[in-house]
Amino acid sequence: MTHLVVVGGGLAGLTAAIAAAEAGVDVTLLDDAACAASASVQAQGGFSAVTAAGVAAGDSVGSHVADTLEAGALHGDAAVVAAICSAAADHVATLTRWGTVWDAAPDGSVALTREAAHAAARIAHCGGDATGAGIIQAVLRHALRLEDEGRLELRGDQRGAGLLVQAGAATGVLLPDGARIRADAVVLASGGISGVYATRTSRHPNPADAAAMAWRAGAVLADAEMVQFHPTYSAEAGFMLTEALRGEGAVLRDADGQRFMLALDERAELAPRDVVARGVAAAQGGAWLDAAPIVERRGPGFLARRFPTVTAALERAGLDLERGPVAVRPAQHYWMGGVAVDQHARSTVPGLLVVGEASRTGLHGANRLASNSLLEAVHTGLAAVATVGSGRHLEAGSLALADPLPVELDEGCGAPLQAVRTIADARLGVDRDEAGLRVALRELERPGQSEAPGNARASSESIAARLVATAALYREGSLGAHHRVDTAGTDRGGARPGSTITLINPHPTAQNDLHGGSQNGGQHSTGRNSIHQTHTKEVAR
Ligand SMILES: Cc1cc2nc3c(=O)[nH]c(=O)nc-3n(C[C@H](O)[C@H](O)[C@H](O)COP(=O)(O)OP(=O)(O)OC[C@H]3O[C@@H](n4cnc5c(N)ncnc54)[C@H](O)[C@@H]3O)c2cc1C
Repeated sequence: MTHLVVVGGGLAGLTAAIAAAEAGVDVTLLDDAACAASASVQAQGGFSAVTAAGVAAGDSVGSHVADTLEAGALHGDAAVVAAICSAAADHVATLTRWGTVWDAAPDGSVALTREAAHAAARIAHCGGDATGAGIIQAVLRHALRLEDEGRLELRGDQRGAGLLVQAGAATGVLLPDGARIRADAVVLASGGISGVYATRTSRHPNPADAAAMAWRAGAVLADAEMVQFHPTYSAEAGFMLTEALRGEGAVLRDADGQRFMLALDERAELAPRDVVARGVAAAQGGAWLDAAPIVERRGPGFLARRFPTVTAALERAGLDLERGPVAVRPAQHYWMGGVAVDQHARSTVPGLLVVGEASRTGLHGANRLASNSLLEAVHTGLAAVATVGSGRHLEAGSLALADPLPVELDEGCGAPLQAVRTIADARLGVDRDEAGLRVALRELERPGQSEAPGNARASSESIAARLVATAALYREGSLGAHHRVDTAGTDRGGARPGSTITLINPHPTAQNDLHGGSQNGGQHSTGRNSIHQTHTKEVAR
C-alpha cells in the first residue's frame, strides 16, 4: 500500500489527507499546532467559484479566468488558471460533501458576494466573514471521523523538520528529534512565509518551513519576489479588515478625508490588492477605511450581521466601523511565490508534491486575486492525491519555466528572527529598491548569528527572506505586487516582466534538518485530543 506523509494541516493538507484516506491510501498528516494556527482557519472573505447560481446571474468561468489573469498582472499561467477556475464549483461541492455549511441565499443556493477585482459576485462564504473557520471546522471533523475509522493518522503536535532525500527523490520526513517517517511520497502543505514579517495579517506567524525544506532538498522555487500585502490591516486591532467590506461599498480616505483611490485607478477601492496597497502606503498622513456608505445603504446593524468576526475584533480594540473610519495600513498577507509545481502538484524533486500556499502553481501570477487561495488549496490537495493514485508521483514535475538561477546561501549564518522581521518589513515590503535590497541581503547574512543557542543553521525565516530578497533584486522592473521604486515602470534586463524568476540550491542536502537537536524526545502522539480541543477554541474566538 502506498504511504503518504502530509506536512501541514491547513486546508491544502487536510484536503490531501482526506482525499488520500478516501482513496484507500495509507496517510499520515503532521501539523505543528493542532491545525489551529493555519492561515486557512483565519480566512475571512471566502472561496471564489462560479457556481450554477453565478452562471444564472450572468457570471462565467471565462470571466473568473480573465479577472485572475488581470489581477496577476498577466504573469499567471493561463492553462493553470483555466483548469483551477473551471473546477471551482466542483470543489465547493466537495467541501459541502465534507460538511461545510455555506451561507445561503434566500432560494437556498450558496450565497455569493463580490470582492475587489472580481467582475461578478462569485465568493462563497461561511459565518459571514468566518469562511476559513467554517470550512476548517467541517473538514477537520470529517478527518477526525476518518481517523476514528482507522483510515487516517493525524499527528497534531508534530513539526516536520526536514525532507529525507535519497538518490534525488523525497523518501520521507525528518522529525525534530531525529526520527524519520519513511513514505512513498511527501505532500508539503505547510503554507507560506508570514513569519518572515513583523507586520502581517496572520495572527500565527508561519515559520516558512516549506520554503526552507524544499530549498534544502533541491527543489526549484519560483516567483519568490512576489509577496502580497493586504491593504486594509488595522494595526490597532491587530486584525485584517476583509476586502468584502470594500466589495459591499466601504471606501478609503486619507487624512484630509479624500478618496485617494479615485485618482489612482478607475476601479478605485475595488482595484487589485497590489494597486490598493500601494495607494494606502502612499496616502497623505495615513489611510482610513470608511464604512459609512454601507451603513447608509444597508442600515444600522448590517455590519455586525454580515461581518461579525471583523466587528468583534474591532470592538476588542475599542473600534467600531459603524461609528467612524478605522485607520488601516498594508501588511504581509500571502506569498504568490513558492515551490514550483506542475498541474499534478509535482515539484522538480521526484516524490515531493507541494500544495496550497507553499506551492507556486502559476494561478496567482504577480498578485493573487481575492479568495483564490482557498480554491487553490483544495485544487492542489486533490491534484496531489490524483497523482499518487496514478502512480506518477515519482516523476519530477514538468515545468515550462526558465532554467533556475543557482543561488548560494550560507546556511552557517543568518540574522536572528526579530532582525529578519525588521529587515523584511523595512526592505522587502510594498516598495523596494536596489540599495535597500542589497542592505537586506547583507544584514540577513550577518555572519555568526543564529537564532537558538547551539543551532548552527539559519532559521527557515532567514532562508525564505533571502530568497525573496534575491529574486526581488534580480527582477529590476515592477510587476504586480513587486514594486521597484528605483526603476518603476521600466524593466532593465535581468528578467522581462511576464517571465518567471526561478531559483535553485546548487548544493542540496540529502537529509535536511531545520533546527537540529531533540525537541520532543521522539515521542509521537496522534494529537487527536489536542487537535480537537485547540480547534474548538480557535473557531469559537
Ligand atoms: C487573515 C487572513 C485572511 C485570509 N482570507 C482569505 C480568504 O478569505 N480567501 C482566500 O482564498 N484566502 C484567504 N487567505 C489566504 C489563505 O487563508 C491561505 O493562503 C490558505 O489558507 C493557505 O492554505 P494552506 O493549507 O496552504 O496553508 P495554511 O492554511 O497556512 O496551513 C499550513 C499548516 O501547516 C502547519 N505547519 C507549518 N509548518 C509546519 C511544519 N514544519 N510541520 C508541520 N506543520 C507545519 C501550520 O501550523 C498550518 O496548520 C487569508 C489569509 C489570512 C492570513
